[in-house]
Amino acid sequence: MNDYVQDFPILRQKVNDEQLVYLDNAATSQKPRPVIDAVANYYYHDNANVHRGVHTLAERATESFEKVRTKVKNFINASSEREIVYTKGTTEGLNWIARSYGSTHLKQGDEIVITYMEHHSNLVPWQQLAHETGAQLKYIQLLSDGRLDMGSAEKLITDKTAIVAVAHASNVLGVVNPITEIANLAHKHGAVLVVDGAQSAPHMKIDVQQLGADFFVFSGHKMLAPTGIGILWAKSIFLAEMPPLEFGGEMINSVELQQTTFKEFPWKFEGGTQNIAGVIGLGAAIDYLSAIGMEKIELYERSLVENLLPELLKIEGLKVYGPLDPVQHSGIISFNLGQLHPHDVATALDMQGVAVRAGHHCAQPLMEYLGVSAMVRASFYFYNTSEDVQQLVKAIKATKEFFK
Ligand code: PLP
Repeated sequence: MNDYVQDFPILRQKVNDEQLVYLDNAATSQKPRPVIDAVANYYYHDNANVHRGVHTLAERATESFEKVRTKVKNFINASSEREIVYTKGTTEGLNWIARSYGSTHLKQGDEIVITYMEHHSNLVPWQQLAHETGAQLKYIQLLSDGRLDMGSAEKLITDKTAIVAVAHASNVLGVVNPITEIANLAHKHGAVLVVDGAQSAPHMKIDVQQLGADFFVFSGHKMLAPTGIGILWAKSIFLAEMPPLEFGGEMINSVELQQTTFKEFPWKFEGGTQNIAGVIGLGAAIDYLSAIGMEKIELYERSLVENLLPELLKIEGLKVYGPLDPVQHSGIISFNLGQLHPHDVATALDMQGVAVRAGHHCAQPLMEYLGVSAMVRASFYFYNTSEDVQQLVKAIKATKEFFK
């Protein structure tokens, strides 16, 4: 057994008379007791609105809220806590970049380059921006094993490119993209690089400076924190010039009848009452992950994939999408089982206690590119065990037999 399991009360339950094996971590992670306790303690003892009151509770809430900015800064090695903007999640962060940076920097004829493996959240905002500005949206091709085709990237990223937006880790194929290489390519042509870190920040050490990104976004709920809290990181030079998008309380310096001055970044982006409990929960999640060590988490998850992949490849008719070499993989494995519909497979696995996701995984262009309508996805986190891997393999084999 894995020592961390005991911190996750939700995992200690039976589903359909079988021990629950939770393998839908790419959708959202479970929450450990210290995160649940931090949120509960905030509501039990410190609940107040931030930045407003001078009373003790307001000061306590504000201090905790702002301290988490420093934790996030250290977690991703940003150069200042002021580069950390609180959002609802990855989707909101990407939309804000497209609407705030994109609509003030793009013009007709410019190009936005993304890839065929993007989640809709890193695709639709750019598509909308292209429609609004007359920019063109281009897609980097994939190699046959699902990795990014860097030859295609080199051809597509040119002096016309204004923005390159890429997932750090794919939520379907499990590949981890060579961000530093892409950053160099983008910068050589004067473009900025936006990185969707939704599937990387929870699973590996992130150093935004070393990656060479200009923007990096992620969601708290995929890394132990509550839903509704996420982070937009950008270099100060961009945040300083980007206009705010939400106007109202909290984000202003002074309001007169006909004009308003705004706070400096990051506060100018944080209009209205924020998800204070979510921020506190994110701080506790970062403490928890940091105490384990992100390098250790990445290595452990890879060891689970090293166990799983050869077992899956032995099952006749099972097709794995993405690289077959565990070294190329994050803890996400997508597959199909013969001609069985992925929803039937996922339902059969659920009957055996195994929670996986089936569908297009918010990546319809990728499904089309690969010629399928849906896949089954098993996604791991550090609290999964080798017993979980075995239970998944056993359940897939039983499913295959059942539908024979
Ligand atoms: N990008 C990727 C790669 C994802 O996997 C997800 C969520 O699954 C998102 C973006 C969107 O994240 P959220 O729904 O938390 O905004």
